[in-house]
Amino acid sequence: SSTLVSEMLEEVADRFSFQLQQRKIQILIQVEPGVTRLLLDRDKIDQVLDNLVSNAIKYTGDEGAIRLEARKIEKDVLEISVQDNGIGIPKKDLSRIFDRFYRVDKARSRNMGGTGLGLSIAREIVKAHGGSISLESELGQGTRVVFTLPIQQEEEDEL
Ligand code: ATP
Ligand code: MG
Repeated sequence: SSTLVSEMLEEVADRFSFQLQQRKIQILIQVEPGVTRLLLDRDKIDQVLDNLVSNAIKYTGDEGAIRLEARKIEKDVLEISVQDNGIGIPKKDLSRIFDRFYRVDKARSRNMGGTGLGLSIAREIVKAHGGSISLESELGQGTRVVFTLPIQQEEEDEL
């Protein structure tokens, strides 16, 4: 069965509500009008979203902000983005950020936990769904990860 996109994003935020509250990080969810349901492997896409939101929380200071957005960028393509205003990623690391086990500067991530697999797994899942994923970041400003998912024709009829 199909997934309600707004509900999926709200549920990600719910899963992290304790950490968000502790760190006083705001989360803002914006779903473009007209974006409703999508056929997807919910467990897998939840895994992608959890990875991206957990990164956004880990690498954002207290009282930061995270935006989760969904919009249609083409007739049959949905775009979902996770944006933070955290520490960002140095330019020299951007090309390797989706590599397995790659982590920026061990010193800053030493106490953060994790293995450096999150983004590579996210990319595999998104690719397997026929989408693509990319990341843009400005050191000291924040990071935005964007991925796409194809919208199938049967869903169009429901919109
Ligand atoms: P894991 O996801 O396995 O728990 P991880 O978060 O370190 O570990 P990835 O999610 O693959 O691994 O991210 C790789 C590296 O990219 C991180 O170690 C971090 O240095 C950097 N990174 C990822 N997301 C962000 C972000 N939102 N802001 C700043 N740096 C980030
Ligand atoms: Mg991660």
